[in-house]
Amino acid sequence: MKLVLLKHVTKILLSPPPPFSLHSFYRRRSSSSSSYSPPPSMSVPVTASVAGEGKVRLRGVVFDMDGTLTVPAIDFLGMYRAVLGDDRYAELRASGDPIDILHHIERWAPPEQQRAYEAIARFERDGLDRLQIMPGAMELCGYLDSNKIRRGLITRNVKDAVDLFHQRFGMEFIPALSREFRPYKPDPAPLLHICSAWNIPPSEVLMIGDSLRDDVGCGKRAGAFTCLLDETGRYGPVESLADDTRPDFKVSSLTEVLSLLSLHFDLQSNV
Ligand SMILES: [Mg+2]
Repeated sequence: MKLVLLKHVTKILLSPPPPFSLHSFYRRRSSSSSSYSPPPSMSVPVTASVAGEGKVRLRGVVFDMDGTLTVPAIDFLGMYRAVLGDDRYAELRASGDPIDILHHIERWAPPEQQRAYEAIARFERDGLDRLQIMPGAMELCGYLDSNKIRRGLITRNVKDAVDLFHQRFGMEFIPALSREFRPYKPDPAPLLHICSAWNIPPSEVLMIGDSLRDDVGCGKRAGAFTCLLDETGRYGPVESLADDTRPDFKVSSLTEVLSLLSLHFDLQSNV
């Protein structure tokens, strides 16, 4: 194991500096951990898991799929237009609120709902044709495996897409929850379900995703650490985000997560 770690450290030292510094990600824990009381079965104080040099033990990482483990390939704007119609779409856009297409559809009558799901499935199938693994994902998963950190997946995409992802890239996430699992993100239920299946408290789990509302929202409400993947900087500085949505970490690539884990978490207790 030491050899594996040494190889990893050597790789970091020999590689060009990662495109971030301590200033490019942000860690904040106090309000997220104190504002949410997990269910009794999950209620393990963060201090109970502090080990080594004051670092918190990390035993599991849960990933979003589209836009996090895979390069964004779904034309979401086209999908929203097709489902909502141009006028309704323009109306919602003008309101400034984020569009939650699945949430909208749930309130529709069954025939309209059926048509909407078919349209969504069409856009998702097109996205699957262009599916690519996110740079850094393979290395990160190898690093987690070598440190005996579990990895799970939560997506609002369908189970077929998750199956294809597993087949195409030869790596498996267990459990992997798709939108057939209700309620879906940003509800904390899928993350709490995974923690329960692992028998690991959310306070020893990190949720990584590219959606502030769905992924960070789900992670924070479950009482887990959260990491926002913001490749393009569309969310702006973390300081500008509201307290209740601010992630513990923000990175612009999955490669940065490797350094983040070794800097901020106790990984040695797992191996
Ligand atoms: Mg995503």
